[in-house]
Amino acid sequence: MTDLSDDLIAPLPPLGVDDVPGWDHETDVLVVGLGAAGAAAAIAAADSGQRVVALERTGAGGGTSAMSGGILYLGGGTSTQTDAGFIDSVEEMQAFLAEVLGRDADDPRLAAYCAGSVEHHDWLLAHGLPVRGEFWPEPGMEPPGTEGLVFSGGENAAPYAGRHRPVPRGHVAATPGATGGFLMECLLAAVAATDATVLTDARAEQLVVDADGAVVGVRARVDGVVQHLRAGRTVLAAGGWAYNDELVRAHVPALLDIAWRLGTDNDDGWGLRVCQGVGAGLESLGTAEVALPITPPRRMVRCVLVNAQGERFVNEDTYFGHVGQAALLEQGGHVFMVMDEPRYEVNMTGMRATWVCETWDELGAEMGLPAGALAATMDAYNQAAAAGEDPAFGKDPEFVVPLTEGPFGAIDLRVAATIYAGFPLGGVTVDESARVLRTDGTAVPGLFAVGRVASSLAAARYCSGISLG
Ligand SMILES: Cc1cc2nc3c(=O)[nH]c(=O)nc-3n(C[C@H](O)[C@H](O)[C@H](O)COP(=O)(O)OP(=O)(O)OC[C@H]3O[C@@H](n4cnc5c(N)ncnc54)[C@H](O)[C@@H]3O)c2cc1C
Repeated sequence: MTDLSDDLIAPLPPLGVDDVPGWDHETDVLVVGLGAAGAAAAIAAADSGQRVVALERTGAGGGTSAMSGGILYLGGGTSTQTDAGFIDSVEEMQAFLAEVLGRDADDPRLAAYCAGSVEHHDWLLAHGLPVRGEFWPEPGMEPPGTEGLVFSGGENAAPYAGRHRPVPRGHVAATPGATGGFLMECLLAAVAATDATVLTDARAEQLVVDADGAVVGVRARVDGVVQHLRAGRTVLAAGGWAYNDELVRAHVPALLDIAWRLGTDNDDGWGLRVCQGVGAGLESLGTAEVALPITPPRRMVRCVLVNAQGERFVNEDTYFGHVGQAALLEQGGHVFMVMDEPRYEVNMTGMRATWVCETWDELGAEMGLPAGALAATMDAYNQAAAAGEDPAFGKDPEFVVPLTEGPFGAIDLRVAATIYAGFPLGGVTVDESARVLRTDGTAVPGLFAVGRVASSLAAARYCSGISLG
């Protein structure tokens, strides 16, 4: 028997079918995990007439999806977009996402995601998720009211706004604030309305394979008792690996030190490891979503972000997920936000100035920056800003103002001083039908991976809503 606590990073080998003493359940589709991905898979399979058994390790399901913001990245001309007054097309959505996410424009997975997006939107609404066709202008955030549409991936900021017509695609259910809990209430109610059998307190431990290497089911512990479940298709929807410290240390160690690693204890990497155990490839393991919430309010982006050299590194008005990725993964989390007196305020997360000085030079010295670096950066910024321009990073002129009215202040945005929130994006390599692919590109018969078990579409920058979408 495999000891799950042995080594938290090694592939978990499957059980041979000859070692199964007998089957406790037989089904067409076996879904492992009941977060958003597993619930959607269970509903879709049951709706298409398949016999479905779903295993959920906790007492109720919901997973990380239930604690999320609930933003769903959908587009291509959904009725929510149209009702809010926006025009979108599958081609525009795909071109934008290919550039931001770092995927080939014709990646079949990206193409399938975009081509199916209107249908996915309508499917969610048909399964009980209310979404209102009204736009909320604060990018990246779940609206405080019931508005249903936000910018959630830097569509309306440089460099993308100049290359792609800015269209909001972050869809949010009509309930105030974070909507992940509500999303899961809707999806779990929709699962309950099907004929699917749901087993809770049921933890899958091992895949079962036949002599040809096809996955034919799982061994699980249901209410503490070992059971074997045979399935025509096994769909792994068991979440990610944000809370497998060994995997995080190996692939995205920067996440170990941040204030808020996004996920639950059950994001333990089990899904990745059992897939590796049957020869699956893994993708994008070094990529992570990292939010650095310098907004709201939006006017905070009139301030300037600098790195350890006192130099700017990003346009401050872009999606705070891109700011966070640049700050943590490219600048080592050694960044600051500087401002003059009129631009200073305490933002929604309570960030306050650590240093206040009469000149930029004094401020740079207090912050420990190289002599003269901050003053040089701000001289250049202010000269261009006087003409309403940001030639270095293309910040929207609406937010480009000279910062010349002292005293000058700096907010410490280094990792130990502020909230970075993030999770790893890499996972199992799948094709556009969610079939798990081996390292040689062939599919593992009978095995599918969805949600956070699979590699995200985001191989470079992230967009809020791509995970749940
Ligand atoms: C605060 C926060 C905000 C976020 N906001 C957004 C957002 O707005 N938009 C967005 O797209 N993403 C967001 N995310 C990320 C997103 O929530 C997750 O990536 C997504 O929910 C993953 O869904 P999933 O179905 O793959 O996994 P989960 O929702 O985690 O579901 C996995 C389920 O599998 C179960 N499970 C695990 N192992 C086993 C096992 N061995 N056997 C049986 N069951 C098992 C777990 O108990 C869990 O219920 C956010 C995350 C957080 C934490």
